[in-house]
Amino acid sequence: MPAETHLFRCLNDNYGVLIHDPATGATAAIDAPESAPVEAALKAKGWKLTDILVTHHHGDHTGGIADLKQRHGCRVVAPQAEAGKIPLVDETVREGDTVRVGNLSANVIETPGHTSGHITFWFHGDKIAFAGDTLFSIGCGRVIEGTPEMMWDSLRKLRDLPGDTRVYCGHEYTLANIKFAQTIEPDNKALAARAAEAAKQIAAGQFTIPTTIDEEKAANVFLRADVPAVAAAVGLSGKPAAQVFAEVRARKNKF
Ligand code: ZN
Ligand code: FE
Repeated sequence: MPAETHLFRCLNDNYGVLIHDPATGATAAIDAPESAPVEAALKAKGWKLTDILVTHHHGDHTGGIADLKQRHGCRVVAPQAEAGKIPLVDETVREGDTVRVGNLSANVIETPGHTSGHITFWFHGDKIAFAGDTLFSIGCGRVIEGTPEMMWDSLRKLRDLPGDTRVYCGHEYTLANIKFAQTIEPDNKALAARAAEAAKQIAAGQFTIPTTIDEEKAANVFLRADVPAVAAAVGLSGKPAAQVFAEVRARKNKF
């Protein structure tokens, strides 16, 4: 049976998301920014929390774990490299590991850069990826613990997933990301189309995610550092893509 998902807002601009296996009733929260909205989401869907899958150690992704674990006794799965910074971890995972949620199955993809142990959960059978703060809709996370090279490699791993993979990310930053991306690629038609779509969605009180890998390849400047026009736009024609990525990321930090 295909997975069901439920997306909701947490804190200021975080997303919470649940993935549910209708065959077994198992339900995982991807990250736990805070407990109350997760509880409300579970109640709204009539689902029981069995697992929390943690992408990285930041407080806006882990702040709700202790409460939820106490109330539900759920299993907490976290990246091995960051387990010491995450509360109440039951199981650690690394690149290539498989995590089961009922009959659903996720591959663990290490996507360091934002933090040094950040992971992405890829439910390949359901074509869903939970990318945390690595890949955003038309953006990417700040490179805080890693290097730009590391982040570029991580983004390329995600870019290589099947194009129709639905991508859920940790924050609603889409409009601001689009504004920035248009300073680098003002003539990108896919980006212009996305700008119009996202403006409509936000005005209607809708979410701009999930996005898809195909949409991001076409419009997300951070996945396009190896496109010659992007290199040219930042004055780095012919330079390595990681260097172009680093420049684009630096400009976004100042934007
Ligand atoms: Zn973060
Ligand atoms: Fe975050």
